[in-house]
Amino acid sequence: MKRLPQKTPSTTEPDFRMMVEDAHHGVFVHRNFRPLYANAAFAHLFGYAQPRDLLALPLIRPLIPAESWALFEARYDKLLHGKVDNTKVMRQRLLRADGHEIWLALTERRIVWEGQAAAEWHAFDISDQLLLEQQLLASEQRLRAVLEVLPYPVLVARQDDGQMLFVNRKACLLLGESANALRKSKMYDYFARAEDREDFISLLSAIKEVREQEIHLRAGNGRDFLAEVAAISIDYNGQQAVLLALNDISARKQLEAELFQQASTDPLTGISNRRYFIARGEQELRRARRFARPLGVMMLDLDHFKSVNDTYGHAGGDAVLQQMVQTAMRCLRNTDAIGRLGGEEFAVLMPETDLNAAVEVANRLRQTLAETDITYGDKIIRCTVSIGVAILQPADNDIDALLNRADQALYMAKQDGRNRVVGAE
Ligand code: GH3
Ligand code: MG
Ligand code: MG
Repeated sequence: MKRLPQKTPSTTEPDFRMMVEDAHHGVFVHRNFRPLYANAAFAHLFGYAQPRDLLALPLIRPLIPAESWALFEARYDKLLHGKVDNTKVMRQRLLRADGHEIWLALTERRIVWEGQAAAEWHAFDISDQLLLEQQLLASEQRLRAVLEVLPYPVLVARQDDGQMLFVNRKACLLLGESANALRKSKMYDYFARAEDREDFISLLSAIKEVREQEIHLRAGNGRDFLAEVAAISIDYNGQQAVLLALNDISARKQLEAELFQQASTDPLTGISNRRYFIARGEQELRRARRFARPLGVMMLDLDHFKSVNDTYGHAGGDAVLQQMVQTAMRCLRNTDAIGRLGGEEFAVLMPETDLNAAVEVANRLRQTLAETDITYGDKIIRCTVSIGVAILQPADNDIDALLNRADQALYMAKQDGRNRVVGAE
């Protein structure tokens, strides 16, 4: 065998045959498309029972689709002149003996065969892989089509940096941006709070799926809203991504807050109603027990309120109730909670307060109320209160037990002549 220019691998034909004869991938040698060698795998790829059946072809034209012919010829010329990158893998559609197409990953290089330059091919069948890719592409197109028509805002963002990969029409409407603008931005740009972002990332990386997470979002027009977010990790076009479904729950939250407000407050005075006050009282009682802290309560009842109503009418009585509550709230500490138990009866919870301090607070409140003018039209009304004070005792099973003792003390304050405070022993 003659020595040929460097870079051109040279081997003896028997060595070559030994190396590639039983290879699992196809090996083929041709000179100007005249077949010189094919291993069994290559012959099988093209539907020939034996390599010799394939080698019987004068040229391998039938293997190459007509539209690729010029390309193959040009590449062969370049190969002979050493101008082909022989590490490059080509995806090539070729034809089997029965005319069916076959997709191959093909590498080509120039070798010396029987003393002259020739082209050697290594061929791997990638038909199955391509079919899978096509199916995947079709399923991704289907996914996009489904997401697009969903009546909910849905978006897909890259997991590592939040880059938006897909947004449906509803998501554009919700975030107040065009699809183009959204696709150029990152999902986290629309998170209104930094801590939501941290929580979301760690939650998602821990469990791969998030349900009913509440996140504050900020739309392109600056509108802040609360969204309920469901998210799941998905593979999207080969990228690790997150699919998010968003639900604007601002209106629902608003309604819930309004309903809570209605259910928990007294419409005339705006303070807690009986139900909410008792619930709050139970909470304070548990807290006081847990930390072994004192808890005081007072019960207030307006003195001779019937005569206020009789003199000024029911509306005058209402004005008294409202203004006395305003005055009382100014007197009390932030931690104290006042509620209207009914009619002209009120109660105050005083956390962290023992009997002496509670009686002192009550007296100050009583005096302030007695000295405060209530205006009703052009009239000035004065009204006093009687107050019973009690402190949480170990035997009190619930907040009612404590309120009952305060109520008894209130009764005594009335008996004693009104406009006074009595502390329960
Ligand atoms: P006492 O000093 O013994 O408490 O005398 P009182 O007149 O306040 O007696 P009582 O507690 O029996 O009367 C309470 C009155 O409060 C009776 C009721 O008509 C009136 N009242 C209850 N709720 C309201 C209200 O929402 N608005 C007005 N204007 N009056 C109310
Ligand atoms: Mg009264
Ligand atoms: Mg009363």
